[in-house]
Amino acid sequence: MKDDNCIFCKIAAGEIPSATLYEDEDFRVILDLGPASKGHALIIPKEHYRNLYDLDDGLASKALVLAKRMTVRLKEILGCDGYNIVQNNEEAAGQTVFHFHMHMIPRYQGDKVGLGWHMGKLKEEDKEEILNKLK
Ligand code: AMP
Ligand code: ZN
Repeated sequence: MKDDNCIFCKIAAGEIPSATLYEDEDFRVILDLGPASKGHALIIPKEHYRNLYDLDDGLASKALVLAKRMTVRLKEILGCDGYNIVQNNEEAAGQTVFHFHMHMIPRYQGDKVGLGWHMGKLKEEDKEEILNKLK
């Protein structure tokens, strides 16, 4: 399925040019136009899925394998010190392009990439509530 109004559908199909690092029948991997760091890349499936919630299970599996292969290769080329794999779902979580994608963000010791969160403490009532509701 494609969405005529979706920029990542067009990029993945090659209708809009992109700095493509890799392509196969399921995915295109491109350099992000607004990189958090040198080498920031995106894994984009060729089919349109809004985000992880509706992503096809087979593609979900393949995406992680591809992320593994790409980061192993790219870290050699970039000489980075670490990698974040980031994947945002819905606006509240920072998603701005509503076509599933995975960010591969190279990290360099001492860089100023602002990923992270303030650690809280697991509350007993939250733990009980979540465990009970999942039963
Ligand atoms: P997200 O906020 O997780 O939805 O990520 C969207 C990402 O897509 C951002 O990092 C943007 O910089 C990137 N982006 C948006 N448009 C383009 C484009 N035409 N080519 C490459 N990257 C893009
Ligand atoms: Zn799309």
